[in-house]
Order: sequence, then C-alpha cells, then structure tokens
Amino acid sequence: MNHMSHTKDLCCSGDHAGGRALMPVNEAIARSLSLASAVDGIELVALEDAIGRVLARDLTAPFALPPFDNSAMDGYAVRSSDLAGAGPWQLKVAGRVAAGDDAGQAGTLRPGQAYRIFTGAAIPAGADAVIMQEHVERDGDIITLHESVDAGSCVRKQGEDAPKGSLLLAKGSLIGAREVGAIASVGLAEVAVLCKVSIALFCTGSELRQPGQSLAPGQIYNSNRYMMIAALRQPWIQLHDMGAVADDPKLLRDALVSASRKADMVVTTGGVSVGEEDHMVRQLMAAGGEIEVMKIAMKPGKPLSIGRLNGAVYVGLPGNPVAAFTTWKIIASRVARKLSGQSEAQVAVIQVEAEQGFTRRPGRQEFRPAKIVGFSANGRPQVRLLDQSFSAKISLICKSDGFAVIPAASTCIASGECLEFVRL
Ligand code: AMP
Ligand code: MG
Repeated sequence: MNHMSHTKDLCCSGDHAGGRALMPVNEAIARSLSLASAVDGIELVALEDAIGRVLARDLTAPFALPPFDNSAMDGYAVRSSDLAGAGPWQLKVAGRVAAGDDAGQAGTLRPGQAYRIFTGAAIPAGADAVIMQEHVERDGDIITLHESVDAGSCVRKQGEDAPKGSLLLAKGSLIGAREVGAIASVGLAEVAVLCKVSIALFCTGSELRQPGQSLAPGQIYNSNRYMMIAALRQPWIQLHDMGAVADDPKLLRDALVSASRKADMVVTTGGVSVGEEDHMVRQLMAAGGEIEVMKIAMKPGKPLSIGRLNGAVYVGLPGNPVAAFTTWKIIASRVARKLSGQSEAQVAVIQVEAEQGFTRRPGRQEFRPAKIVGFSANGRPQVRLLDQSFSAKISLICKSDGFAVIPAASTCIASGECLEFVRL
C-alpha cells in the first residue's frame, strides 16, 4: 500500500499511547519490513511442485519463443508477392503442414503455390504470410483469393514472445499458474526455488479451548489458531504449529525462546495489550528480544507488536480475532512475504466510494469491514461500511468483502467520497 503515504495519514492527532503519539501505519510497515531479510537457501524442485514457491534466480529464455515462425490461423501459407496487382488471384494447393510437422519435409513454396496450413504449424520456406481459410474459396486444388495480404500477416514470428536471452521471470516471483506455464514453455522440468520460510505459531490465553472440547464458564474457543493456520498454509511457508499457551509468564517465555530457535518468524496471538495478563512484550524482552514496532495508530490493531528474538522476527498479533486478522493482512503478512524472498510484498488496493457519509474520531487509520453494494455513477465500486465497533466481531469480517481504509486524520467521510479498499 504505497500510496497510503499521504501526509494526512502521518498525522495522528487524537490518539496517544501513554502520552506518546501512536506510530503511523506506514511507519509500522516500513520498520517491520526493515527487520526482514529474505531466506537465502535454494532448492531444486520438480515443475509440478513449484506452484506457490518463490523463484530463486532470474529465468531468461534459453532460446527464442516461439522457437520458429508459425501460423496463427488455420488457412493457407502463401507468398504475399503473388498477390500483387488486381485480384482475384488463384493459387494451386501444393502441400500441407500441420502443427508438429517438420516444414522442411514439405519443401519450398514456389510462385503460384499455396500450402494448406494449421495453427501452430511451422511456416514453410518461401511463404511469408497466411490467409485464413474463411477468406478463401477452394475448388479441388485451386484456391481463389479476393484480397491481398501483407507479408507477415497471420504469422507468429520466431522470438516475438521472448527473444533468446530475454528476461522471462524475475527472481523473487511467486510461482503461480502463469509462471509455471512460462517455465514449462522453455522446457525446464525442474526449477530453483528459495527454501520455505519457517514460521512458528502459538496462541496465548488461559481462556482458550480447542474446537471439539466442551467449554467451562469463562472459556472460549481458540479461533485464532485455526484462522492463522489457514492464513499460513502457503507452499512457501513451513509451519510449526505450537498450539496454545496459558497466560503464564514462564511458559510464555519458554515458548517464545523455543519458537525463535526453530523458525525464521514467530507469530503469536494475544497478550500484547496493556493488561496485567498481557505478558508477551515483557517476556520477549526478558528473553533478550527487542520490540521495534508497537502502539500503532491503527484500528483495529493498536497492540500489534513486532520485533526480534534470537535472529527470528517476532510478530505479536492482538488477541481479538478481527484485529489479528487485520494486522496480519495489512502488516505482518508483508513481513512474511519479504522473509520468503518475494519481491512483490504490496497489499493490492482498489478505489471505491463510500455509500453513506459518517463522522468519526480522528487519530487512527481505520480498516473498516465493508461490503461492495454496487457501482457509483462514475463506475467505481460503492461500499457500505459495517459496524463502527467491530474489533471483536468475527461475524462482521465474514460478511464483508474487504476493508475500507479511512485516513487517520479524517473526522468525517462524505457520501460518495473516494476511499482505498483492500479486498479480502
Ligand atoms: P488479548 O489480546 O489477549 O487481551 O485478547 C483480546 C481478546 O481476544 C480477549 O477477549 C480474548 O479472549 C480474545 N482472544 C484472545 N486470543 C484468542 C483466540 N486465540 N481465539 C479467540 N479469541 C481470542
Ligand atoms: Mg489474552
């Protein structure tokens, strides 16, 4: 979210943390990203296993793509110079080349001749254009043409997609279906990818029970664990799921230390607010760690705390599931992507319009669950903003299409005002 760096986002007038101004979201993102350097291990994987992994080296075309001039249509290969002067013209069909045929076997096309040709077939020597079969009348071996063609018409030239040696995919590309297609097109059965980034996850809270267990009074189900397992189930992540840990300082410190020893990134949920039972920041420091980002001018997500421990990046997500989800999406997932070596770590935003106006307390940049309800008169998606007090309501994010982004300093949003929107 580059373009969130408007100066209005950087001023946070209303909200303060213990007398100190809260950290603007952009600064939190920049500082968090500066903690992450990409994994450097490389492994070779089969093409089928490359999906969702990160390309370790630039991929250049080892030969021209396409490798030979070929037909873009089903039709007839011709010499464009045969179609000079006034038409119609007649040519004799003297050969045939289908996709996969060696055009050399078909011989050279001579003046006055045409070859039957099909899409993807190599252009025979002597021919320089293809006429679509729809533009030809055929009677036995003779075709009649009523329109001339330019040289090169309906011919895919050797190297027009990618010349030999040109960059096909940059190092750091996340390999999706398109990238797998490009790698296969140059004949590679294996590809060098970066090793997975290892992420250890545990949730804190003495109130948490596992789904499937029964709840005693005061207890709730651990939704963050499953939500974060789902968010972290990526082919480029090696997940160490450490379950839940009670709000006990010693247990939490031990869990932090063991997580930091086995992972590049430690993600926890809960225990980062200012209550007496919020032990994470203190225990991280007691274990020799440091915090770089905390008390953020963000709603939800003010308690998000990011730092380091034993060479691992530490991400303490807030306990409220909506806040955990939002801070993961907007800030922490970008840190994970950077650690994994992905060059593209932006969060994609689109421009939308607010359906209704409202007023608000300034100070924190807000990520408000919103639903797309239609299109405005000028064609932008129009969004309805959901409940003001949404931080603890997981049902609300399930009803929303994304987050409308409200600048920190805004005190009112007019009906029809343009906002950024992060799609979920
Ligand atoms: P905390 O950040 O630990 O103060 O937690 C804030 C709120 O989120 C409290 O109401 C917690 O009960 C709730 N909470 C914390 N962790 C989880 C979790 N793993 N699943 C569901 N709710 C949680
Ligand atoms: Mg807690």
